[in-house]
Amino acid sequence: SCLARAEVLEPQISAMLTITEESGMAQAKAVDEAVASGKKLPPLAGVPFVVKDNMCTKGIPTTCASKMLMQWKPPYNATVIELLAEAGAVLMGKTNLDEFAMGGTTEHSVYGATSNPWKLDCVPGGSSGGSAASVSAGYVPFSLGSDTGGSIRQPAAFCGIYGFKPTYGLVSRRGLAAFASSLDQIGPFARTVEDLALVLNAISQKDELDSTCSCRPRPDYTKALNAESLKGRRVGVIKEIQEYAIDPEVRKAFDQTLKFCERQGAEIVEITLPTMVEYGLPCYYILALAEASSNLARFDGVRYGLSTDAESLLDLYTKTRAQGFGLEVKRRILVGTYVLSSGYYDAYYLVAQKARQLIKQEFVKAFGSVDTILLPTAPSPAFKKGELINDPIQMYMADIFTLPVNLAGLPALSLNAGFSADGRPLGVQFIGQWWDEEGLLSTASLHE
Ligand code: GLN
Repeated sequence: SCLARAEVLEPQISAMLTITEESGMAQAKAVDEAVASGKKLPPLAGVPFVVKDNMCTKGIPTTCASKMLMQWKPPYNATVIELLAEAGAVLMGKTNLDEFAMGGTTEHSVYGATSNPWKLDCVPGGSSGGSAASVSAGYVPFSLGSDTGGSIRQPAAFCGIYGFKPTYGLVSRRGLAAFASSLDQIGPFARTVEDLALVLNAISQKDELDSTCSCRPRPDYTKALNAESLKGRRVGVIKEIQEYAIDPEVRKAFDQTLKFCERQGAEIVEITLPTMVEYGLPCYYILALAEASSNLARFDGVRYGLSTDAESLLDLYTKTRAQGFGLEVKRRILVGTYVLSSGYYDAYYLVAQKARQLIKQEFVKAFGSVDTILLPTAPSPAFKKGELINDPIQMYMADIFTLPVNLAGLPALSLNAGFSADGRPLGVQFIGQWWDEEGLLSTASLHE
């Protein structure tokens, strides 16, 4: 039924890059047989899912929506793919994204744009737009995305579903094509909070093959779903965001969510995060691009994917990279290389590292007086396709509320908080303390 639904809606939505019908059906059949023979089933047995096409799937194309990797089939599975297979889930395909996860609309894909299921002329958000759209359109109950600066939460908000960005280090990044390694984190999209918890249970295991993946024991996240109220919980509202240009309908959704928290018995506390608001955006766009320029150096025409005819090694590098990467990726490699070059390193990269530290410290201080922070996920609902594609700075500004969470490594959950008058979903996010995914799930489950 999932395949059938995707077949009907794909011509309009274009969320999928690959559909793994054959292997998926074989896996589903194996589950049917296990059921018939009375075997004990793993927690996600037979549940179909899709993943963003920047996570390695053995023998299945993993393109990162780039010409660079169009023909590439990884020789191994990302750890999250292995864990979901162990949990019995069935991979149904790979989803569209902005090339190498760089963008916020899923328009920067060599395969073309994905549409928002609620409004087909609007973007689904990005960069995990295909993963958000496929859950929102009901192809599958859950999917995986990656969030470097908002790429799970913002498309979840634009598509009216849940999106969870875990604490940095909760989920293994092994087999995720690195964009900015100190910010990247994999997480789930789903239509219910319980589904988020079930998927988080499956994917949040320690991993000896990712040195940044934490060894701390993980709880059973489904236990967090039975809270009765928000009594005793303090919800922070950031003073500085009052000065921000926020779409009035998003603001209304935010205010209503705040009222919901009050009704549930939470205490609302005003906090101040001045560095985050003033420097979060430039800080992210220096550090993320610096890391990206280094991470993408591996695409050299020798080791992975595209390789052009060339007369020398330098010629091979130059031609392969000129032909393989799209415009936005090239822009980011250029900026990243610039801020790391001698003479500019101190002025940009080092200063941004210091700003990042300050932002983190501000969050530490804020979490002295609150348990969670409420913030719109994005300043506006989904906008029209093509609207920002030629204005990178405006496009980057749209990430203002999501990026600081990655700079600090915090967990955050985006949920639907209503619709605009013309039917576009409106999202808000709860930001939690480090490792408090349970607090976020329990808050979201009360809201559900
Ligand atoms: N939109 C942000 C960017 O373009 C975030 C991307 C992401 O989280 N992968 O960098």
